[in-house]
Amino acid sequence: MNAHDSERLSGMLGSLGYTPVDDRDLADLILFNTCSIREKADSKLIAHLGDAKRLKREDPTKVVGVGGCWAQSLKNELFESFPWVDVAFGPGQIHRLAEFLKSDSITAQGFFDFEALSSELPAARERPYQAWLQISQGCNCVCSYCIVPSTRGREVSRDPHSIIGEAEALTADGVREVTLLGQNVNSYGRDLPASRRIGFSEILRRLDALPGLDRLRYTSPHPKDMRADVLQAHIDLPSLCEHIHLPLQAGSSRILKSMRRTYDRERYLDRVEAIRESVPDCSITTDIIVGFPGESERDFEETLEVVDRVGFDAAFAFPFSPRRGTHAATLPRQISREVKSERMGRLVELVNERAAARAERFLGRDLEDLVEGPSRTDPTRLRGRTRHNRAVNFDGLAAPGELTEVAITDTTSHSLDGVEKLLVRAG
Ligand code: SF4
Repeated sequence: MNAHDSERLSGMLGSLGYTPVDDRDLADLILFNTCSIREKADSKLIAHLGDAKRLKREDPTKVVGVGGCWAQSLKNELFESFPWVDVAFGPGQIHRLAEFLKSDSITAQGFFDFEALSSELPAARERPYQAWLQISQGCNCVCSYCIVPSTRGREVSRDPHSIIGEAEALTADGVREVTLLGQNVNSYGRDLPASRRIGFSEILRRLDALPGLDRLRYTSPHPKDMRADVLQAHIDLPSLCEHIHLPLQAGSSRILKSMRRTYDRERYLDRVEAIRESVPDCSITTDIIVGFPGESERDFEETLEVVDRVGFDAAFAFPFSPRRGTHAATLPRQISREVKSERMGRLVELVNERAAARAERFLGRDLEDLVEGPSRTDPTRLRGRTRHNRAVNFDGLAAPGELTEVAITDTTSHSLDGVEKLLVRAG
């Protein structure tokens, strides 16, 4: 979501006549779009703000802005601690940056209301053929570790006509792959007025029907809302990719309860089973928090058991990081850095082992690949992405943005290796 907000900020700045510069010293406007999910991002930002202070002292005409969840969590306090910041705004107020930049006043201005779903903004996409499409904003869940409900507000679903309209404009502009975005994407639609109310699976169906849209993805669904109609959509809709990112967070029901995740270990495993029954070849990826307050060795072993049993195609593991204003930050029995780090090591090892085993099912298969550009490790080769969301490095001639078939010749826990089928046929 934060990356997409950055694309929209860039798009808006482009339409106001700004162009990016490589060197911060040369910028008229220095804008930070912040995330506050983990502590590390906060610390990095503070170092960058120190640099901006120096530049502003050297050239007071420079404008310094801070947007995103970190700004939202501090609100006007931000100007007290960092008086060289000219404008600050939360994720629901992205559009106010343009208003500020066009105004005569450049005194400290903050915009922190949750009044609008800032989705109707131009976006400068990283790749012309892939796009994010925001379908909702905010979250009604109360996960005890999460700062998002306080920085992005209650859930607001976007009008279906507006979503379809943006998707049509994207495909007309050459986009082949769209990823729907929502904090809790599969609870989409419940807050819409009765006359316009449609659910998540229906929006998937309407988007799948659009000509020119080859691939449809979404992130992140909540396990509690992963229901039969969504799985049926995976069976029925040709564009809907065989990949579901299903955040686990912990494998111990006791810890899940303390996290206020509203599902337990059995319910999560039941959802995985339902996915595998509906779409046997589906990639399942996840997020896991290690060292949540009160996590015992036995609780952690239960997480390892779930990881072993599910066999995720990939998992993003994070040590628990207490966030300002969340319930989890105040819980007793916080876990030491050493224990978190030791558990992270064991978890990552198991995740990689299981992901490598899962990847072996692709060996010898021909997989559709959306070409993203040169391989990062060898620029003479290409890099693409399968419908299962696996990166593939391959020998081939296809151009970025093309869909091609790749014969898979090798697999690792993180990527696949192969040869474009056209080359195989050419001998
Ligand atoms: S579902 Fe939980 S973790 Fe996800 S955004 Fe909402 S409160 Fe945060």
